[in-house]
Amino acid sequence: MSDDIRISFEFFPPKTDRGREKLIDVRNALGKFAPAFFSVTYGAGGSTRDNTKRLVCDFNDAGFATAPHLSFGGDTEATIEQLIAEYREHKVQRIVALRGDLPSGMGGVRNMVYANQLVAFIRDKFGDEFHLEVAAYPEIHPEAKSYQDDIRYLKGKFDAGANSAITQYFFNPDAYFYFADQCQAAGISQPIYPGIMPITNYANLARFSDACGAEIPRWIRKKLESFGDDAESIKAFGIDLISDLCETLLDNDAPGLHFYTMNQLEPTQTLLNNLGYSADA
Ligand code: FAD
Repeated sequence: MSDDIRISFEFFPPKTDRGREKLIDVRNALGKFAPAFFSVTYGAGGSTRDNTKRLVCDFNDAGFATAPHLSFGGDTEATIEQLIAEYREHKVQRIVALRGDLPSGMGGVRNMVYANQLVAFIRDKFGDEFHLEVAAYPEIHPEAKSYQDDIRYLKGKFDAGANSAITQYFFNPDAYFYFADQCQAAGISQPIYPGIMPITNYANLARFSDACGAEIPRWIRKKLESFGDDAESIKAFGIDLISDLCETLLDNDAPGLHFYTMNQLEPTQTLLNNLGYSADA
């Protein structure tokens, strides 16, 4: 496995002390795979602001490079600037800059701040102090007017100063390869890292995929449905499928992998082992 391949791991902020303790164990175990960084999600509309901040600052203080996900939500520029300044104090070097979504029930009330505007805001206030990641959608963002529009807006995020992008998860590698080609044709030269979603639970995956516009190909749906409540078979199938996906991506020049760990050590650890990574590599 090439040293140039960038690996990163995404967490969400747990709500309980027990969840935090468990996550520290997961972080320590995944940290042995020498990831470029961990990242911590930000609840829709800033709903996890304090939890995300605490986790990100604690992890960085403990020596684990960790990037906060960030969006304006309903916050003012002063609040966001203050939050970023706090991150800087804790030696945060990377931010995942998003438009985000509003929590259900608040839809459409506020003007959303697009991710390119957040990127421009951070560059304006903090110069080049942070590496800025943005989101990309190989199967196209559900609200996008067209394929080309979505790529144009992605380019706008890079033009505003983003350094790289992480994709929404997908199960069809051709969607990623075609998207990467289209981005290149549109003048995007920055790396676009595939987001990888392990499969552990079909009902949750189906619900989430419908909401975020990630396609589960029919044959995969049918296969997962055929397992019913047999969690072990779902996991085994998922590991084989996603190991193959990762291998195909890396064999065809994807620059790295970003794992949506769902705060679980398994199956991300198994996927990495299947790809030839070992802890303390
Ligand atoms: P944008 O890039 O701003 O795009 C949003 C939509 O508007 C797209 O349809 C785009 O085509 C269109 N658009 C973009 N710019 C403009 C413009 N200037 N004018 C008109 N239309 C425009 N959500 C969370 O709530 N918390 C998280 O922590 C989180 N982490 C994520 C991490 C990754 C890697 C990814 C891929 C997604 C994540 N999301 C998260 C989901 C994300 O917030 C949603 O998909 C959201 O709807 C879009 O955010 P964005 O940053 O991609 O938005």
